[in-house]
Amino acid sequence: MSSWTSVLQQIAELDPADFDPADLADEQLRETMPLTQVAINRLSALLTRCVAAGDARQVQGADGMGSMKTWLTAHCRLSGAEAARLVRAGRRLPALPELRAAYASGAVSAAHVQVITAAVTPARIAAAADAGIDLATTDQLLTEAARVLGPEDTEKAARRWVAGVDPDGVLDDSAGLPRVLRMAPSSGGRVYLTGHLDPVGGETVHAALEAVMNGHRPAGDRRSHAERQGDALVELCRQALAGGSLPTVRGERAQVRVSIDLVALCAERGFAELPFAGPITAETARRLACDASVVRILTGPGGLPMDVGREQRTAPAGIRRAIEARDVHCVFAGCRAPAAWCDVHHVIHWAFGGVTSCDNGALLCERHHTAVHEGRFSIARDPDTAVWHTYRPDGSEIQIRGPSP
Ligand SMILES: [Zn+2]
Ligand SMILES: [Zn+2]
Repeated sequence: MSSWTSVLQQIAELDPADFDPADLADEQLRETMPLTQVAINRLSALLTRCVAAGDARQVQGADGMGSMKTWLTAHCRLSGAEAARLVRAGRRLPALPELRAAYASGAVSAAHVQVITAAVTPARIAAAADAGIDLATTDQLLTEAARVLGPEDTEKAARRWVAGVDPDGVLDDSAGLPRVLRMAPSSGGRVYLTGHLDPVGGETVHAALEAVMNGHRPAGDRRSHAERQGDALVELCRQALAGGSLPTVRGERAQVRVSIDLVALCAERGFAELPFAGPITAETARRLACDASVVRILTGPGGLPMDVGREQRTAPAGIRRAIEARDVHCVFAGCRAPAAWCDVHHVIHWAFGGVTSCDNGALLCERHHTAVHEGRFSIARDPDTAVWHTYRPDGSEIQIRGPSP
């Protein structure tokens, strides 16, 4: 066994049981973390070199594996993506001696090496040589960036180099890849989105979402960026459906369709279903059927369609305009979501005999429409002053503190 192997053996057998970070003084803790990161960097550099040597000699063959990547996923239990990055870094680092040295000394991390080796492809190195761009200088500049910047900014530096040697993007690893978006409803009721876009497609989606996100940000909004982005995506699609400019589907206007059992519509329990996303609660179905240009397909006993509603319960334009003029924005306490983003909520649901009228209508944004239906909040209008009051599920009123905006 070489002395190196025995050193690694010792590190692998390090027993941190007698090491308690709680025993360290603050300053020692602050020293220990970067030191540990340097050690991790040095070890990853070592692993990368081993992978490169094993890959060059095809050592995985003896274990019946066709590629080093699959060997790593099986024997080191790495993810496929991680294994691929490791193999790629191992193959490309020899062309970047400065970066390789910085990695070996622990000055840069695996993440830095990944973003640079992903950008510096053999095809781009060849293009750079044709354009008279010296690879040694590239190696030096990118390594310098990696030494002082985080992986994100190092990636930007690498992309600037790519833009210089391959302005048309023809050498892009992902050039010509189609845009992909997958939507998968889960049994838990969530719909999962995955996919990837080209830079221009991604920027387009981002710009539209950002406009919706910034267009309406209520005071004291505590949603995370990701939550706001999720809400913005749904809002964008709601507006597109409501606008009516989308292509028709099988001769009909594009709509959210919900099937509701007649019993479920009027009772606490029962069955409602969205054709793509699957089962929803009866109360959610009542919210969808409340205003919304949702087409309702009511099913009677035995699941036979009884009433294929066509927006009859949507507030007619005149009534909606009158309600908008009166309420101006979402009437939930403290919300200022503009009328265009709101549903006309039936204070008494039409399923319980409520009529579509100014008196029985209230503007509620999607979030607060949900709060009122599924969240058991309630709203009531003072008939004398036309002022709306909002009540919590326990019946107490939500009072807005401070001057109203
Ligand atoms: Zn409603
Ligand atoms: Zn609201």
